[in-house]
Amino acid sequence: MAQLLNGIEIRDQIKAECRPRVARLVESYCRPPGLAVILAGENPASQVYVQSKTRTCAELGIYSQTITPPASVSTEELLEIIEKLNQRPEIDGILVQLPLPPHIDTARVLLAVAPEKDVDGFHPCNIGNLVTGRPGPRPCTPAGIMELLRRYGIPIAGRRAVVIGRSDIVGKPMALLLLHENATVTICHSKTPDLPGVCREADILVAAIGRPAMVTANFIKHGATVIDVGINRIEDRALAEKIFRGDAARMAQFDKAGRILVGDVHPLDVRTVAGAYTPVPGGVGPLTIAMLMVNTIASAERRLGAA
Ligand code: NAD
Repeated sequence: MAQLLNGIEIRDQIKAECRPRVARLVESYCRPPGLAVILAGENPASQVYVQSKTRTCAELGIYSQTITPPASVSTEELLEIIEKLNQRPEIDGILVQLPLPPHIDTARVLLAVAPEKDVDGFHPCNIGNLVTGRPGPRPCTPAGIMELLRRYGIPIAGRRAVVIGRSDIVGKPMALLLLHENATVTICHSKTPDLPGVCREADILVAAIGRPAMVTANFIKHGATVIDVGINRIEDRALAEKIFRGDAARMAQFDKAGRILVGDVHPLDVRTVAGAYTPVPGGVGPLTIAMLMVNTIASAERRLGAA
Protein backbone atom coordinates (compact mmCIF):
# COMPACT_ATOMS: atom_id res chain seq x y z
CA MET A 1 0.00 0.00 0.00
CA ALA A 2 1.33 3.42 -0.96
CA GLN A 3 2.37 5.99 1.65
CA LEU A 4 -0.06 8.88 2.01
CA LEU A 5 1.66 12.29 1.86
CA ASN A 6 -0.38 14.38 4.27
CA GLY A 7 -0.68 17.98 3.10
CA ILE A 8 -2.57 19.02 6.22
CA GLU A 9 0.29 17.96 8.49
CA ILE A 10 2.87 19.76 6.34
CA ARG A 11 0.64 22.86 6.18
CA ASP A 12 0.46 22.89 9.98
CA GLN A 13 4.25 22.59 10.24
CA ILE A 14 4.69 25.50 7.82
CA LYS A 15 2.14 27.62 9.69
CA ALA A 16 3.85 26.87 13.01
CA GLU A 17 7.12 28.12 11.49
CA CYS A 18 5.39 31.32 10.33
CA ARG A 19 4.29 32.37 13.83
CA PRO A 20 7.73 33.26 15.29
CA ARG A 21 8.64 35.10 12.07
CA VAL A 22 5.52 37.26 12.38
CA ALA A 23 6.19 37.82 16.11
CA ARG A 24 9.76 38.89 15.35
CA LEU A 25 8.60 41.46 12.79
CA VAL A 26 6.02 42.87 15.21
CA GLU A 27 8.62 43.05 17.97
CA SER A 28 11.40 44.59 15.87
CA TYR A 29 9.45 46.78 13.45
CA CYS A 30 6.18 47.36 15.34
CA ARG A 31 3.99 46.04 12.56
CA PRO A 32 2.86 42.69 11.18
CA PRO A 33 3.28 41.67 7.53
CA GLY A 34 0.42 43.05 5.41
CA LEU A 35 -1.43 41.40 2.53
CA ALA A 36 -3.94 43.12 0.23
CA VAL A 37 -6.27 40.91 -1.79
CA ILE A 38 -8.19 42.25 -4.77
CA LEU A 39 -11.37 40.31 -5.45
CA ALA A 40 -13.18 41.74 -8.48
CA GLY A 41 -16.77 40.65 -9.00
CA GLU A 42 -18.65 37.91 -7.20
CA ASN A 43 -17.28 34.56 -8.39
CA PRO A 44 -18.40 32.19 -5.56
CA ALA A 45 -15.32 29.93 -5.81
CA SER A 46 -13.02 32.97 -5.67
CA GLN A 47 -14.93 34.29 -2.66
CA VAL A 48 -14.33 31.00 -0.82
CA TYR A 49 -10.60 31.02 -1.70
CA VAL A 50 -10.20 34.63 -0.58
CA GLN A 51 -12.02 33.93 2.69
CA SER A 52 -9.63 31.04 3.41
CA LYS A 53 -6.65 33.26 2.66
CA THR A 54 -7.79 36.12 4.91
CA ARG A 55 -8.81 33.67 7.67
CA THR A 56 -5.33 32.14 7.60
CA CYS A 57 -3.79 35.64 7.76
CA ALA A 58 -5.88 36.38 10.87
CA GLU A 59 -4.83 33.07 12.45
CA LEU A 60 -1.14 33.93 11.98
CA GLY A 61 -1.39 37.61 12.96
CA ILE A 62 -0.82 38.87 9.40
CA TYR A 63 -2.73 42.04 8.57
CA SER A 64 -5.00 41.60 5.56
CA GLN A 65 -7.34 43.80 3.62
CA THR A 66 -9.72 42.64 0.90
CA ILE A 67 -10.68 45.13 -1.78
CA THR A 68 -13.85 44.15 -3.64
CA PRO A 69 -14.50 46.21 -6.76
CA PRO A 70 -17.67 45.25 -8.68
CA ALA A 71 -17.52 42.94 -11.74
CA SER A 72 -17.99 46.07 -13.90
CA VAL A 73 -14.62 47.50 -12.77
CA SER A 74 -12.41 48.61 -15.67
CA THR A 75 -8.79 47.64 -16.27
CA GLU A 76 -7.80 51.29 -15.66
CA GLU A 77 -9.61 51.34 -12.31
CA LEU A 78 -7.87 48.11 -11.24
CA LEU A 79 -4.52 49.58 -12.25
CA GLU A 80 -5.26 52.60 -10.04
CA ILE A 81 -6.13 50.37 -7.07
CA ILE A 82 -2.89 48.44 -7.54
CA GLU A 83 -0.82 51.60 -7.88
CA LYS A 84 -2.17 52.86 -4.53
CA LEU A 85 -1.35 49.52 -2.90
CA ASN A 86 2.13 49.59 -4.42
CA GLN A 87 2.69 52.91 -2.58
CA ARG A 88 1.38 51.80 0.83
CA PRO A 89 4.32 50.97 3.12
CA GLU A 90 2.37 48.62 5.42
CA ILE A 91 1.30 46.40 2.49
CA ASP A 92 3.98 43.78 1.72
CA GLY A 93 1.96 41.56 -0.59
CA ILE A 94 -0.65 42.22 -3.27
CA LEU A 95 -2.69 39.33 -4.57
CA VAL A 96 -5.06 39.68 -7.50
CA GLN A 97 -7.53 36.82 -7.24
CA LEU A 98 -7.94 35.11 -10.62
CA PRO A 99 -9.91 34.77 -12.80
CA LEU A 100 -10.66 38.46 -13.33
CA PRO A 101 -13.89 39.40 -15.17
CA PRO A 102 -13.51 38.58 -18.88
CA HIS A 103 -13.30 42.20 -20.11
CA ILE A 104 -10.21 42.87 -17.94
CA ASP A 105 -6.70 42.77 -19.40
CA THR A 106 -5.33 40.27 -16.86
CA ALA A 107 -1.74 40.39 -18.14
CA ARG A 108 -1.64 44.20 -17.74
CA VAL A 109 -3.11 43.99 -14.25
CA LEU A 110 -0.58 41.38 -13.08
CA LEU A 111 2.24 43.41 -14.60
CA ALA A 112 1.17 46.45 -12.52
CA VAL A 113 1.85 44.74 -9.18
CA ALA A 114 5.25 45.87 -7.88
CA PRO A 115 7.54 42.82 -8.23
CA GLU A 116 8.64 43.14 -4.58
CA LYS A 117 4.97 42.85 -3.49
CA ASP A 118 4.08 40.04 -5.91
CA VAL A 119 3.39 37.24 -3.40
CA ASP A 120 1.93 34.95 -6.06
CA GLY A 121 5.19 34.99 -8.03
CA PHE A 122 3.30 35.69 -11.28
CA HIS A 123 5.07 38.94 -12.29
CA PRO A 124 7.39 38.44 -15.30
CA CYS A 125 10.33 39.72 -13.19
CA ASN A 126 9.73 36.98 -10.65
CA ILE A 127 9.19 34.38 -13.35
CA GLY A 128 12.61 35.46 -14.65
CA ASN A 129 14.01 35.07 -11.13
CA LEU A 130 12.55 31.57 -11.01
CA VAL A 131 13.92 30.58 -14.43
CA THR A 132 17.41 31.81 -13.57
CA GLY A 133 17.37 30.46 -10.01
CA ARG A 134 17.57 33.91 -8.37
CA PRO A 135 15.82 34.59 -5.06
CA GLY A 136 12.23 35.79 -5.21
CA PRO A 137 8.70 34.60 -4.53
CA ARG A 138 7.81 31.26 -6.12
CA PRO A 139 4.24 30.44 -7.24
CA CYS A 140 2.51 29.03 -4.15
CA THR A 141 1.19 25.66 -5.36
CA PRO A 142 4.45 24.33 -6.84
CA ALA A 143 6.41 25.83 -3.91
CA GLY A 144 4.12 23.93 -1.53
CA ILE A 145 4.72 20.69 -3.43
CA MET A 146 8.49 21.18 -3.13
CA GLU A 147 8.07 21.66 0.65
CA LEU A 148 6.04 18.46 0.84
CA LEU A 149 8.64 16.46 -1.11
CA ARG A 150 11.48 17.89 1.00
CA ARG A 151 9.77 17.29 4.32
CA TYR A 152 8.89 13.70 3.42
CA GLY A 153 12.48 13.11 2.29
CA ILE A 154 11.48 12.13 -1.27
CA PRO A 155 14.70 12.17 -3.32
CA ILE A 156 14.61 14.49 -6.35
CA ALA A 157 18.20 14.83 -7.61
CA GLY A 158 18.89 12.46 -10.48
CA ARG A 159 15.28 11.24 -10.60
CA ARG A 160 12.96 11.34 -13.60
CA ALA A 161 10.09 13.80 -13.04
CA VAL A 162 7.10 14.16 -15.33
CA VAL A 163 4.72 17.11 -14.98
CA ILE A 164 1.37 16.85 -16.78
CA GLY A 165 0.10 20.38 -17.48
CA ARG A 166 1.94 23.47 -18.71
CA SER A 167 0.03 26.33 -17.07
CA ASP A 168 1.91 29.42 -15.91
CA ILE A 169 0.69 28.98 -12.34
CA VAL A 170 1.33 25.26 -11.79
CA GLY A 171 2.87 23.14 -14.59
CA LYS A 172 5.69 25.38 -15.82
CA PRO A 173 6.91 26.63 -12.41
CA MET A 174 6.62 23.09 -11.02
CA ALA A 175 8.88 21.77 -13.78
CA LEU A 176 11.44 24.55 -13.14
CA LEU A 177 11.53 23.95 -9.38
CA LEU A 178 12.10 20.21 -9.93
CA LEU A 179 14.80 21.04 -12.49
CA HIS A 180 16.57 23.32 -9.98
CA GLU A 181 16.66 20.34 -7.61
CA ASN A 182 18.41 18.35 -10.35
CA ALA A 183 15.56 16.14 -11.52
CA THR A 184 15.41 15.25 -15.21
CA VAL A 185 12.11 16.84 -16.11
CA THR A 186 9.57 16.26 -18.87
CA ILE A 187 6.54 18.51 -19.31
CA CYS A 188 3.49 16.85 -20.88
CA HIS A 189 0.33 18.50 -22.14
CA SER A 190 -2.78 17.90 -24.21
CA LYS A 191 -0.75 17.29 -27.39
CA THR A 192 1.76 14.80 -25.93
CA PRO A 193 1.65 11.46 -27.76
CA ASP A 194 1.60 8.29 -25.64
CA LEU A 195 0.98 10.19 -22.42
CA PRO A 196 0.68 7.02 -20.26
CA GLY A 197 4.01 5.73 -21.62
CA VAL A 198 5.84 8.99 -20.86
CA CYS A 199 4.28 9.15 -17.38
CA ARG A 200 5.35 5.58 -16.62
CA GLU A 201 8.98 6.75 -16.84
CA ALA A 202 8.47 9.06 -13.87
CA ASP A 203 9.86 8.54 -10.40
CA ILE A 204 7.93 11.70 -9.50
CA LEU A 205 4.68 12.29 -11.40
CA VAL A 206 2.83 15.59 -10.95
CA ALA A 207 -0.68 15.87 -12.41
CA ALA A 208 -1.98 19.43 -12.91
CA ILE A 209 -4.57 18.94 -15.61
CA GLY A 210 -8.09 19.63 -14.34
CA ARG A 211 -9.57 16.31 -15.55
CA PRO A 212 -11.11 14.04 -12.93
CA ALA A 213 -9.25 10.77 -12.29
CA MET A 214 -7.56 10.88 -15.69
CA VAL A 215 -4.27 9.44 -14.42
CA THR A 216 -5.03 5.73 -14.00
CA ALA A 217 -2.83 2.74 -13.06
CA ASN A 218 -1.28 2.51 -16.56
CA PHE A 219 0.26 6.01 -16.12
CA ILE A 220 2.09 5.13 -12.91
CA LYS A 221 5.44 3.37 -12.52
CA HIS A 222 5.40 0.93 -9.63
CA GLY A 223 6.65 2.73 -6.52
CA ALA A 224 6.55 6.25 -8.02
CA THR A 225 5.67 9.35 -6.01
CA VAL A 226 2.43 10.79 -7.41
CA ILE A 227 1.43 14.38 -6.69
CA ASP A 228 -2.17 15.24 -7.53
CA VAL A 229 -2.78 18.97 -8.00
CA GLY A 230 -6.22 18.63 -9.59
CA ILE A 231 -9.35 19.79 -7.80
CA ASN A 232 -12.43 18.66 -9.71
CA ARG A 233 -15.95 18.87 -8.34
CA ILE A 234 -18.09 15.91 -9.43
CA GLU A 235 -21.84 16.32 -9.27
CA ASP A 236 -22.80 13.40 -11.55
CA ARG A 237 -23.54 10.32 -9.42
CA ALA A 238 -22.83 7.87 -12.26
CA LEU A 239 -19.38 9.41 -12.77
CA ALA A 240 -18.68 9.29 -9.03
CA GLU A 241 -19.77 5.64 -8.97
CA LYS A 242 -17.50 4.87 -11.91
CA ILE A 243 -14.50 6.51 -10.25
CA PHE A 244 -15.02 5.17 -6.73
CA ARG A 245 -16.08 1.69 -7.90
CA GLY A 246 -18.23 0.85 -4.92
CA ASP A 247 -16.07 2.59 -2.27
CA ALA A 248 -19.00 2.82 0.15
CA ALA A 249 -17.54 5.58 2.34
CA ARG A 250 -16.85 7.92 -0.59
CA MET A 251 -20.26 7.24 -2.15
CA ALA A 252 -21.91 8.00 1.20
CA GLN A 253 -20.02 11.33 1.17
CA PHE A 254 -21.32 11.98 -2.34
CA ASP A 255 -24.91 11.15 -1.37
CA LYS A 256 -24.74 13.43 1.66
CA ALA A 257 -23.36 16.47 -0.17
CA GLY A 258 -24.60 15.81 -3.72
CA ARG A 259 -21.02 16.32 -4.90
CA ILE A 260 -17.48 15.18 -4.22
CA LEU A 261 -13.95 16.39 -4.92
CA VAL A 262 -11.75 14.25 -7.14
CA GLY A 263 -8.19 14.92 -8.21
CA ASP A 264 -6.62 14.36 -11.62
CA VAL A 265 -5.29 11.00 -10.40
CA HIS A 266 -7.52 7.98 -9.98
CA PRO A 267 -7.96 7.76 -6.20
CA LEU A 268 -8.04 3.95 -5.98
CA ASP A 269 -5.45 3.08 -8.65
CA VAL A 270 -2.82 5.34 -7.11
CA ARG A 271 -2.94 3.50 -3.80
CA THR A 272 -2.16 0.15 -5.39
CA VAL A 273 0.61 1.19 -7.81
CA ALA A 274 2.39 4.28 -6.40
CA GLY A 275 4.99 4.29 -3.64
CA ALA A 276 3.66 7.54 -2.18
CA TYR A 277 0.84 9.89 -3.13
CA THR A 278 -1.06 13.02 -2.17
CA PRO A 279 -4.79 12.53 -1.58
CA VAL A 280 -7.57 14.85 -2.75
CA PRO A 281 -8.68 16.55 -0.58
CA GLY A 282 -5.92 16.91 2.03
CA GLY A 283 -2.85 16.78 -0.22
CA VAL A 284 -1.64 19.73 -2.29
CA GLY A 285 -4.64 22.01 -1.62
CA PRO A 286 -3.77 22.99 1.97
CA LEU A 287 -0.18 23.84 1.03
CA THR A 288 -1.04 26.63 -1.41
CA ILE A 289 -2.37 29.05 1.20
CA ALA A 290 0.44 28.16 3.62
CA MET A 291 2.99 29.16 0.97
CA LEU A 292 1.12 32.42 0.33
CA MET A 293 1.66 33.20 4.01
CA VAL A 294 5.36 32.31 3.70
CA ASN A 295 5.71 34.56 0.63
CA THR A 296 3.97 37.45 2.43
CA ILE A 297 6.19 37.13 5.50
CA ALA A 298 9.33 36.84 3.34
CA SER A 299 8.29 39.97 1.45
CA ALA A 300 7.82 41.87 4.73
CA GLU A 301 11.21 40.65 5.96
CA ARG A 302 12.90 41.80 2.74
CA ARG A 303 11.14 45.16 2.69
CA LEU A 304 11.91 45.85 6.36
CA GLY A 305 15.52 44.71 6.01
CA ALA A 306 14.99 41.74 8.36
CA ALA A 307 15.74 39.00 5.84
P1 NAD B 1 -4.96 24.89 -16.75
O1 NAD B 1 -6.30 24.58 -17.31
O2 NAD B 1 -4.40 26.25 -16.86
O3 NAD B 1 -3.89 23.88 -17.37
C1 NAD B 1 -4.19 22.54 -17.57
C2 NAD B 1 -3.08 21.90 -18.34
O4 NAD B 1 -3.40 20.52 -18.54
C3 NAD B 1 -2.83 22.50 -19.71
O5 NAD B 1 -1.48 22.85 -19.80
C4 NAD B 1 -3.17 21.39 -20.71
O6 NAD B 1 -2.23 21.29 -21.77
C5 NAD B 1 -3.09 20.14 -19.85
N1 NAD B 1 -4.08 19.18 -20.31
C6 NAD B 1 -5.42 19.36 -20.47
N2 NAD B 1 -5.99 18.23 -20.93
C7 NAD B 1 -5.01 17.32 -21.07
C8 NAD B 1 -4.96 15.99 -21.51
N3 NAD B 1 -6.06 15.35 -21.90
N4 NAD B 1 -3.77 15.37 -21.53
C9 NAD B 1 -2.66 16.01 -21.13
N5 NAD B 1 -2.63 17.27 -20.69
C10 NAD B 1 -3.81 17.93 -20.67
O7 NAD B 1 -5.05 24.40 -15.22
P2 NAD B 1 -4.16 24.77 -13.93
O8 NAD B 1 -4.50 26.15 -13.47
O9 NAD B 1 -2.74 24.41 -14.13
O10 NAD B 1 -4.81 23.76 -12.88
C11 NAD B 1 -4.78 22.36 -13.08
C12 NAD B 1 -5.60 21.69 -12.00
O11 NAD B 1 -5.02 21.99 -10.75
C13 NAD B 1 -7.05 22.15 -11.91
O12 NAD B 1 -7.84 21.05 -11.48
C14 NAD B 1 -7.03 23.19 -10.81
O13 NAD B 1 -8.27 23.30 -10.15
C15 NAD B 1 -5.99 22.60 -9.90
N6 NAD B 1 -5.28 23.58 -9.07
C16 NAD B 1 -5.13 23.26 -7.77
C17 NAD B 1 -4.45 24.10 -6.93
C18 NAD B 1 -4.27 23.72 -5.51
O14 NAD B 1 -4.02 24.55 -4.67
N7 NAD B 1 -4.38 22.43 -5.21
C19 NAD B 1 -3.89 25.30 -7.41
C20 NAD B 1 -4.03 25.60 -8.77
C21 NAD B 1 -4.72 24.71 -9.60
